Amino acid sequence: MVCLSNEQKAELAQVARAIVAPGKGILAADESTGTIGKRFDGIQVENIEENRRAYRDLLFTAQPQEVLAQSIGGVIFFEETLFQTTQDGTPFAKHLEKLGIIPGIKVDKGVTPLMGTDGETTTAGLDGLAERCQKYYQAGARFAKWRCVLKIGGGCPTPLSIDENAHVLARYASICQANRIVPIVEPEILMDGDHDLEVAKDVTERVLAAVYKKLNEHHVYLEGTLLKPNMVCPGQDCPKKYTPQEIAQATVTVLRRTVPAAVPGITFLSGGQSEEAATVHLNEMNKTSDLRPWALTFSYGRALQSSALKAWLGKPENVKAAQHALIVRAKANSEAAQGKYQGDAAGEGADESLYVKNYKY
Ligand code: 13P
Repeated sequence: MVCLSNEQKAELAQVARAIVAPGKGILAADESTGTIGKRFDGIQVENIEENRRAYRDLLFTAQPQEVLAQSIGGVIFFEETLFQTTQDGTPFAKHLEKLGIIPGIKVDKGVTPLMGTDGETTTAGLDGLAERCQKYYQAGARFAKWRCVLKIGGGCPTPLSIDENAHVLARYASICQANRIVPIVEPEILMDGDHDLEVAKDVTERVLAAVYKKLNEHHVYLEGTLLKPNMVCPGQDCPKKYTPQEIAQATVTVLRRTVPAAVPGITFLSGGQSEEAATVHLNEMNKTSDLRPWALTFSYGRALQSSALKAWLGKPENVKAAQHALIVRAKANSEAAQGKYQGDAAGEGADESLYVKNYKY
């Protein structure tokens, strides 16, 4: 029988736990070349390799580095970034390791249509995945991310979409673990639509239940995984408004019903919420009295980087201001991961919605 050795299991579990140590979460900086191009368009920065490198350099060298290291347990790279270096020539992965921050990598190849459905998708990238994992491990990556996307409305998600996406996530997770890489399992349910919180709750519960059933069938070692779900939020166009406490309670209820206690951490995506809403919702979850066997923390892309990008504008003289903006959000989310956020990072654009219809990462 082919299975993980005890040493492999111990390594995977240790990495997964370290990423979500108390007060730590993930900086998702794995925007593909196309996606970072859209971000750069917004601030009139040309999408060339040196600008992408300079921007990631700014994020990873943000001062004070101790604050970054206390709040960020892992950074997700896009492949290009894993092989780039800081200004002084240190590989980004080495630079982060020195701070105790674990490098990770996006390994999926994006979404692809499911024939016979109304715009539903699965995610590509299983071909050659084992070999890529080996190459990434050599370069310092210790965890991976794979994003599946589901949508609500008009009969979606269909049973086919739920089943297929759960299957591909399980297969990805199994290949990663066989190659000493901790898989982050990400079944993102989009906020697009006018559905209410009850519908979001029902769909998220069904999707997560299917994911854990498949992970079990594929013998995935749960202690060496992390889950990256959406928060349970009403659709972007839902006329009814909900309090942060209601959103937090709905999310914790769904997770308690579906995610085994063996999973060390749940690292939420921000999904188009404003920077401040993503922080406040996480904080409220960590304040609930419900028993929570896993760490509840962040793996934000937009909700960690939006203010930093706007402060930077591609200008060297703005690097310090951009780094400060990142540190403000990292610290706020670190506090929220412990239920200790007091609201002091609000304002200055942090409340602006980051929602983009049918968002592609
Ligand atoms: P957002 O936090 O911007 O949703 O992105 C996180 C991510 O990695 C999505 O795959």
